[in-house]
Amino acid sequence: MAVNYKAELVGVLGYPVAENPTCVMQEAAFAALGLNWRYLTIEVKPDNLADAMRGVRALGMRGINLTIPHKVGVMALLDDIAPDAKVIGAVNTVYREGDRLIGANTDGKGFLRGLREAEIDPQGKRVAVLGAGGAARAITFELAFAGASELIVINRSEERGQQLVEALRKDTSTTVDFVPWSSTYVVPPTINILVNATSIGLYPDAEALPDLSLDQAHSDLFICDVIPNPPDTRLMQLARSRGLRTLNGLSMLVHQGTIGFELWTGQTAPEAVMKEALRKAFEAS
Ligand code: NDP
Repeated sequence: MAVNYKAELVGVLGYPVAENPTCVMQEAAFAALGLNWRYLTIEVKPDNLADAMRGVRALGMRGINLTIPHKVGVMALLDDIAPDAKVIGAVNTVYREGDRLIGANTDGKGFLRGLREAEIDPQGKRVAVLGAGGAARAITFELAFAGASELIVINRSEERGQQLVEALRKDTSTTVDFVPWSSTYVVPPTINILVNATSIGLYPDAEALPDLSLDQAHSDLFICDVIPNPPDTRLMQLARSRGLRTLNGLSMLVHQGTIGFELWTGQTAPEAVMKEALRKAFEAS
């Protein structure tokens, strides 16, 4: 049998990027499926992004993830962008169709996959989302596309919050409201799902807890966090102590990775392997 030492390449471009854990789950998935693929974690300064993307093309890389600060800048360097990523205004995953590089956004889709895995259907639900940054943007648009009946965006910076609300009103038919986050946010009893899409609680500030009250919340409220590290945030702990069901940020991280894996390889991602690899990596860090 002819040997084939040629590896297929994917990876992530970011700055800084050293602590990005995606390589751990993607490499575990390649190993589990016996694929001769490599996932490279590559530091690229903003000024070098165009050259780096030429490199992606020249090396015939099968795809690339983009993380801070490249999710917007990469959009001008691609051959096409999926309509939902265009509306969200950011690309975190690039895949190849022949010689063409196509941009997608899998953050919100990963969140939704996790939600559905937890047997929560966003259709007709009222959702409160803390935050208006990149993660909140991807999540709120996907929730609107999935038929959420009402979205409330709660954000510290009024300008950023209003911008997201206006974008959602323009491009979706969901009812959207903005609440400035200047004091404790009291979760109303009408809310079905609460999402923390801020960076509050992210390692090393793992003791931080979003300023909210669950005193008026419905007993069936479902609480989600986007923070992947640590997965068991103080918000997750608070929710459990109230007997509420939860979904942690590891789920979203794994699922945006499984969607990327499937776009690149065309194979079903070994989700359990990827989740376990990440869990171990966070435990060790
Ligand atoms: P951004 O910087 O774009 O947005 C951060 C958001 O958090 C803003 O809304 C900001 O409010 C808010 N925020 C930060 N600190 C505070 C605070 N002390 N009080 C109130 N609000 C605060 O970041 P991203 O949206 O890209 O990322 C947010 C989080 O999501 C990160 O922790 C990241 O790790 C996580 N993430 C997880 C993913 C996963 O797969 N699990 C995928 C992508 C992101 P303001 O506008 O007022 O500054």
